[in-house]
Amino acid sequence: MTHSLTGQCQCGAVRYRVTGTPLTLFACHCTECQRQSSSAFGLSLWVKNAEVVLEKGAMKEWVRDLPSGKKMACRFCPDCGTRLFHQGLGQNEIISLKPGTLDDTQGLQLAGHIWTGSKQAWVQLDDQLPQYPGNPEVFETLIAAWQAASPDLAQRRRPPAPPASVGHRHAEINGNLNNQK
Ligand SMILES: [Zn+2]
Ligand SMILES: [Zn+2]
Repeated sequence: MTHSLTGQCQCGAVRYRVTGTPLTLFACHCTECQRQSSSAFGLSLWVKNAEVVLEKGAMKEWVRDLPSGKKMACRFCPDCGTRLFHQGLGQNEIISLKPGTLDDTQGLQLAGHIWTGSKQAWVQLDDQLPQYPGNPEVFETLIAAWQAASPDLAQRRRPPAPPASVGHRHAEINGNLNNQK
């Protein structure tokens, strides 16, 4: 599978490219994602911030207060309003990309579901993937599940060995993305 990680907003004013390997992909069934997507759930493709290149246009940003007291930047096209990226403020490591904006959405394998406690009743989850009623304590399970489900995409460029401090780094990221809803 060749998977080009480029994408754009609905009107095309904003275009981006991901140069590296995504970390995971999960569905969030929280009510904030339902409202943001005006649909049943949101999708989050975690990518490294340093590996996202804005190729065209500029995004507008809205900052949301999280239940944890932290904040999350929500970036979107100022012309058509398509949401493209979420980033927990206080960390510059990971961005949550809205994968429905990719040019090629085929081949994306979901790694799990979060906030299933508020999923719509008609959404039947029979995919045997990990489920969490709220936010996971840690995201390692979702990261590992995604790497296993998407070997081509995951190994498109092998990530370097994690540094010794990776546990702490993830904890920090999880803290910032906690209750991101
Ligand atoms: Zn647009
Ligand atoms: Zn959500």
